[in-house]
Amino acid sequence: MIQTRKSLLTASVVLLFLNGCGDASLQDVEMASARQGVAAAAAVPLPVPGCPVGALDTDGDGICDIVEAVLGTNPNNPDTDGDRLSDYAEAFGFGGVLDLPTLGANPLKKDIFIEVDYYPGLKPTQAMLNRVTTAFANAPVTNPNNTTGITLHLVVDQEIAAADADSDLNPVWTDFDVIKGKYFNASRAPYFHYMLFANRYSGGNSSGISRGIPAHDFVVTLGFIGGGTELQQAGTLMHELGHNIGLRHGGNDDSNYKPNYLSIMNYEYQFYGFGIGGLNNVLDYSRVQVASFNEASVNEQTAFAPVAPTTEADLARIGGLRFNNVQVVGNASVNLDFNGDGTIQAASYALDFNRSGAANNVFPASQNDWTALMYDGGGQIGLAAQGLSQDLGREQRFLVAPEKMEPCLTVDASDAR
Ligand SMILES: [Zn+2]
Repeated sequence: MIQTRKSLLTASVVLLFLNGCGDASLQDVEMASARQGVAAAAAVPLPVPGCPVGALDTDGDGICDIVEAVLGTNPNNPDTDGDRLSDYAEAFGFGGVLDLPTLGANPLKKDIFIEVDYYPGLKPTQAMLNRVTTAFANAPVTNPNNTTGITLHLVVDQEIAAADADSDLNPVWTDFDVIKGKYFNASRAPYFHYMLFANRYSGGNSSGISRGIPAHDFVVTLGFIGGGTELQQAGTLMHELGHNIGLRHGGNDDSNYKPNYLSIMNYEYQFYGFGIGGLNNVLDYSRVQVASFNEASVNEQTAFAPVAPTTEADLARIGGLRFNNVQVVGNASVNLDFNGDGTIQAASYALDFNRSGAANNVFPASQNDWTALMYDGGGQIGLAAQGLSQDLGREQRFLVAPEKMEPCLTVDASDAR
């Protein structure tokens, strides 16, 4: 019991740091802590086959060095692939209670796990989910096993009973936690994000919200417009998940509608994606870095410039660009009709892109989102209980309380189709 109480305390501290949107009530924290306690009690690490008692385990991840050599994992790093899921959890799971290997975890390739629950009538289709898993599979991220991409595990779990499907989550995280407390598999708490396909939150018309940046919870609320299209659902899922793994509306800042930020984290693209490789509506986080852009001096011939290591060829692969709600012809490497008047003008002009009311903003060079992801958004990595510490030394920024974020893209009548 003492051990359980200790883990409750730890969970409470973690949660207090994580709540970014809305205020965390004591009730929220206690409820979530109770789940954490269940997880700690249920998931027991087992001895690793092939590791003699007392065998050297240099990185202390629960796998002795001689077995790490067989697996190909790094005996000096408890998280060889850097996804903040420990080598032990990915290779062996926890006593059959949480079997990450069976779910497809690989200690040599980055994995992200999400439990997906949904309101009646809002069950995600496989085609919709595939849009997002494909985007992650195509990510320009390298792995220790020489593959590229991230394996996104969208584990569709169960329908929320009608009686529990609160039509307006308000306050959003208080009501969300009531559902999560009942439907989320507690043993998954240290490893999974939790996502809910719901109707509406906080009396507004927002398409969804993340609990913070980074965080472990998010909701997609398109039920009030009839569920939205496949593209709207997938784009919103990937947008809110992006907040969960550290991305902001400007990538590394909160500046939305930055013309030089080519990511579905930018509202211009959440419901549309990009034209890539001959396909339209391809969902992607930013994979290029585009030079600083000045609203006061927009030149359609100069347009965008790459920042190394991004090349013009990289920019040329990205089409479907949008400015002020209008999609323009061409790709990110050529002349761009920023004001959508049908011509490429030689003279520079001023144009307000970010709805600030004035055309005087200078946007710094954009980031490559895929190399900036924060994989510890799951809330905690591994279980500190059972003497198996898997504190992987989180980045300092994780312990900074996330900024209170604005609700995500508001859905209006023109989007409800
Ligand atoms: Zn957002």
